[in-house]
Amino acid sequence: MSYKIEVSGLRKSFGALTVLRDINVAVEPGQVVALIGPSGSGKSTLLRCLNLLVMPDGGKIRIGDDSFAFGDSSKMPGTKEQARFRSNTGMVFQHFNLFPHMTVVQNVMEGPVSVKGMAKAKAEELARKLLAKVGLSDKAEVFPNRLSGGQKQRVAIARALAMEPEVMLFDEATSALDPELVGEVLGVMRNLAAEGMTMIIVTHEIGFAREVADRVLFMRDGVIVEEGPAREVIGAPKQEATRAFLSHFHNRG
Ligand code: ADP
Ligand code: MG
Repeated sequence: MSYKIEVSGLRKSFGALTVLRDINVAVEPGQVVALIGPSGSGKSTLLRCLNLLVMPDGGKIRIGDDSFAFGDSSKMPGTKEQARFRSNTGMVFQHFNLFPHMTVVQNVMEGPVSVKGMAKAKAEELARKLLAKVGLSDKAEVFPNRLSGGQKQRVAIARALAMEPEVMLFDEATSALDPELVGEVLGVMRNLAAEGMTMIIVTHEIGFAREVADRVLFMRDGVIVEEGPAREVIGAPKQEATRAFLSHFHNRG
């Protein structure tokens, strides 16, 4: 089995604070992995390392055919290598970071045109296809300030998909949304999963994780404490720390 994502021995500290200790993760093509754990456990840092927004101190990351080793003995990736590596992963954050001075379709076209040098007409065609996929064809020409939070987040997903990444990373993509807008964003994520996109999802939507994720990783203090099939980890956690964390959620399905 060749994995789509392979992380081994990943380490990261910020000054004296060790945030990731020897993290090992392997994700099969098309698999959806939910990463759960208390605030401060290192979930965002792990996703950011996969996207090289944070440079790891040690370990290895492979995504598709592209891999990097980090640490003293290895040569740090150059800017060009980083950009290529980064384009393998689409990242969606809690806050949408759309460009306010661009229309929705321009926001989605921007990456392919400026990073990949795609012709504008082709990028626009791709952008409109992706806006249709997230259910926002009718919003292509409006500016982001006219959109609801859920619509903005769906544009952010389309924008990430426009780079045609091999994997998608979601960092609490629904946490900043009003409750009635969460469902439409989870719906788009569910469709992507069904289409076979490889995804790592940091989420507090435990019911969603149980339903959509193939596997769940529970992280605490920079360590993956427990992992396994979603139904097992969420339905019958083996570790006391996992049980204690999950006891805060009522809608475990
Ligand atoms: P989570 O996403 O699980 O809440 P984070 O990965 O955001 O956890 O943070 C893990 C720990 O690392 C926290 O203690 C946080 O304060 C710290 N941290 C994260 N990013 C930085 C940074 N750039 N500089 C210093 N400390 C950081
Ligand atoms: Mg976080």
